[in-house]
Amino acid sequence: MRVFDSPHQLKEAVNKAKKRQNECSVGFVPTMGALHQGHIELIRKAREQNDIVVVSIFVNPTQFLKNEDLEKYPNKMEADKKICEVSGVDFLFCPTAKEMYEKDEIRIHAPNIRGYILEGTSRPGHFNGVLSVVMKLFHIVTPVNAYFGKKDAQQLFLISLMVKQMFMDVNIIAVETKRDSDGLALSSRNSYLDQFERKQALKVSESLRKASNLVASGTLYVSEIHKEMLLILEPLEIAYIAFVDREFHALEKIELKNSIILVEVLVGTTRLLDNIWL
Ligand code: AMP
Repeated sequence: MRVFDSPHQLKEAVNKAKKRQNECSVGFVPTMGALHQGHIELIRKAREQNDIVVVSIFVNPTQFLKNEDLEKYPNKMEADKKICEVSGVDFLFCPTAKEMYEKDEIRIHAPNIRGYILEGTSRPGHFNGVLSVVMKLFHIVTPVNAYFGKKDAQQLFLISLMVKQMFMDVNIIAVETKRDSDGLALSSRNSYLDQFERKQALKVSESLRKASNLVASGTLYVSEIHKEMLLILEPLEIAYIAFVDREFHALEKIELKNSIILVEVLVGTTRLLDNIWL
């Protein structure tokens, strides 16, 4: 595995590798590090489906709001490098913010409606930063396939929308959410939770399981499902419980195979996201 911090050097290495191997496909997994089994699943998929695998670890400052956890975001660079190495990553890209951004930057804006609902309401401007960095990373890495987790469903949707609307040549591949054995969706931010908070956090996946069971037994009206989920989530500080179709339009009734139920709660000061695709 080769490690790069310079965008230009990585780009050159990718181009050389592409020239050496005719018709070679590059699979790309962008991350912010503190890698866990969720990230590893993305890398595994990329390894399975491509000739060259590139992983980036970059805690992107433009997607954090002023009062957020940019400064204390978990950093496990040495362990992350080992994980990438044993997972068969070819190129690991770990740039600094200086290498990624200039002072006076061209701006990319998330769409006015679907970029400012849900996570976009909780974190206004967050998706502008996400789309900007993903656009830059795609230009540097030039992947054929890029892998994103369904756990961040709105992010996944907006990146797919950007690729479509900007006529970019990247396949966006959605990967299932990895969970701990007790149901908690894996997240680098779970390390902020103390024992009590972690127990409380389980209510999120419990509420989604309840929703899934209700739908399976024929309850499709969102108002009814919402009521039942609230009973489970009530002890927590709820940012939103939302019911959308796969294009992020609000639903009154679940459409089978075209719906996502999303939950965001605050446990202590930690923001937790989870969802279920139905
Ligand atoms: P992050 O490092 O949190 O920015 O996440 C990098 C990528 O990993 C994103 O595409 C996430 O959606 C994905 N990811 C994060 N957690 C999980 C999980 N538990 N299961 C699957 N993918 C995940």
